[in-house]
Amino acid sequence: MTLPTEAELERRTAELLAAWRVRDTAVAVRWNRRLSSTAGRAFQRSGRIELNPTLLARAPAELPMVLAHEAAHIAAFRLFGPNVAAHGRHWRSLMRLAGHEPAVTHDIPVDDPRLPGRPRRRRFLYLRVCEGCGDRRLLDAVRYGRCHGCEARDRYLVVKSSAGPRGRAALERLTLADVRALHRSRGRAAADSL
Ligand SMILES: [Zn+2]
Ligand SMILES: [Zn+2]
Repeated sequence: MTLPTEAELERRTAELLAAWRVRDTAVAVRWNRRLSSTAGRAFQRSGRIELNPTLLARAPAELPMVLAHEAAHIAAFRLFGPNVAAHGRHWRSLMRLAGHEPAVTHDIPVDDPRLPGRPRRRRFLYLRVCEGCGDRRLLDAVRYGRCHGCEARDRYLVVKSSAGPRGRAALERLTLADVRALHRSRGRAAADSL
């Protein structure tokens, strides 16, 4: 499986940003062999994307989605500023404009080095809260779509924790105000990974 060169990835990323009407379309894209279960990550301030060659050689059909996911983080930062929520409605509408479902987790199988051939256990748990009606769900993967409580679309706030009883208890304690505050601070984080 031949993966595209970094120059080719930078060309595709500039095309995405131009289609989203971002004026500054320059983004550095690098393959990073040290990423393990992360498919890609974006550094919004420095305008840099890193992609995982091991995972994406295994699932090349996912590359356009992963690249668009990371490019949309940089586009959202350039269009809406540093306080834009990481996977908020701005980021999600950019993903839809590029023809992708705005998924926050990837489904590429990740081998556990200690147990070759077996998928790694989920490492994270997510609390998804609907801003429209307060509907709360604990999920092991983030899925967007219409809210079951109020039919609103794209009004979710999501907070991630480690999987396991301590992470679960921490998420269950969070109020809507806590979730909003965490969501705002995460939007300012240096890197956002998928
Ligand atoms: Zn709702
Ligand atoms: Zn992301």
